[in-house]
Amino acid sequence: MVFAYLALFSIVMFSIGTLVSNITQSFLIDHRVREQISMADDIAVSVAPGMKNFNAQKIYKTALDYGQNLGGRVLVLDKYGVVQSDSFSKLNGVSLEIEEIDQVLDGNAGSTNALHELEIEVDNQSSDTTNDVKKEKIYVMYYVSSIVYDGNMLGVIVLSLPVQDIFDQVAQANGQIMMVVFIASIIVVIISFLIAKVITKPITALTHIIKKMSKGEIHQRVRVTGKSELSQLGQAFNTMSEQLERVEENRNNFVSDVSHEIKTPLSSMKILVESLIYDQSGNIEMHKEFLGDINNEIDRLSYIVNDLLQMVSMEQDRVVVNYDKVHVSNLTSLVVKAMAPIAERKEITLIHEDNTDAIVLGDKIKLQQAVTNLVDNAIKYTLSGGEVQISVEEKELSVVVRVADTGIGIPEKDISHLTERFYRVEKARSREAGGTGLGLSIVERIVKLHNGAFSITSEEGVGTTIDIILPKFIDEDKEVQ
Ligand code: ADP
Repeated sequence: MVFAYLALFSIVMFSIGTLVSNITQSFLIDHRVREQISMADDIAVSVAPGMKNFNAQKIYKTALDYGQNLGGRVLVLDKYGVVQSDSFSKLNGVSLEIEEIDQVLDGNAGSTNALHELEIEVDNQSSDTTNDVKKEKIYVMYYVSSIVYDGNMLGVIVLSLPVQDIFDQVAQANGQIMMVVFIASIIVVIISFLIAKVITKPITALTHIIKKMSKGEIHQRVRVTGKSELSQLGQAFNTMSEQLERVEENRNNFVSDVSHEIKTPLSSMKILVESLIYDQSGNIEMHKEFLGDINNEIDRLSYIVNDLLQMVSMEQDRVVVNYDKVHVSNLTSLVVKAMAPIAERKEITLIHEDNTDAIVLGDKIKLQQAVTNLVDNAIKYTLSGGEVQISVEEKELSVVVRVADTGIGIPEKDISHLTERFYRVEKARSREAGGTGLGLSIVERIVKLHNGAFSITSEEGVGTTIDIILPKFIDEDKEVQ
């Protein structure tokens, strides 16, 4: 983080510094050019008469005066580009080929200017005795202006003035900017280090807690203050941790519930078997009765195991649901047919209203299981002579499967708990009726898998009505036809 801040800061500062220094340099050079641009024209006007009369002496004098006054160099070239006079007296007779000179000589411009980098020799007096000659690069500005007399172009003036001072000033300013950037970078490093510490502190704490959790200590929470992203992360972590605790608690409760449910029939069987082992009477009738009881307990155990398997299979994340178009009335007919003998044995009238062709998209086996559980309960908790009615009602967007009985009913306080595992209103009575306390949990899971809903209304001594509401399958193609 510190490096990221530093890199970002340096890039930004460096870019701004370069931009500012380039703009300043251009501005200063432009300013200088604006001041000096007319000087070459003045010299051109001054040397024009001398050029006309081929007065070399006069031309040189003018060039020298101007050169010395302006602190630069003046070259006077004829119209062929050959130096006629040089205020430094070095290039006389030399033909110069410089783009700007050609431009003016060709008549493309009256006057022009351009920046040049020159290599010059400077005396470097390092000691009393030695005199080194060093080469140095400097920037100069060439101002070129045409010499015109009586409308005739006679040649050009080249005025060369140093602009190195501008480059030196800008370089000095750059050095100062770099110094400021350096000091600011150190401050940025210190501040970003402190910020990084503040930010990483809660992350380090969270990492520490996650490590603890992964070792099995799941009761961990982080302290959350404020509303920052990190606080939100902490909050999300706490929610996850609570969820994990709930899952763990559920798992423990489930194991203890199952063990308890299985223990009861096992204890009864143990007592019955021991009675048979130690019985000396040889009473065959009693033995038969005990074996019958053991058989019943074994049946109970298999019910529990079957229901548990069903419920667990429904709890896995990836339950295989074989979606198909299911004709709901056909499905309830199958259930009624299967349950009819049990109802008959208990002298309960089963009424089936199947006057609809409603279709739902679902898993036929699972839906049949859900309706069977409801009808089974209705028969179990209705006294002989009572009535169980199964109906299918088609609504605009849904299909309602209703199982209503005239049974013992359910106290209001228990209704919200019925879908909990192993929840029974009256343990003894439910067990006697062959219940495991898992039937409605299974129904709830099946209905959820089908994006449906589930409602229970009941009145003690009057009866219970349970509705399964499923989304209706609407065949759009069929509607168009
Ligand atoms: P069980 O296997 O014990 O029937 P369920 O989960 O199916 O378990 O039902 C939970 C409890 O709800 C039952 O023990 C019973 O007390 C009550 N119950 C369910 N359906 C009915 C009903 N139709 N009439 C009265 N009580 C019911």
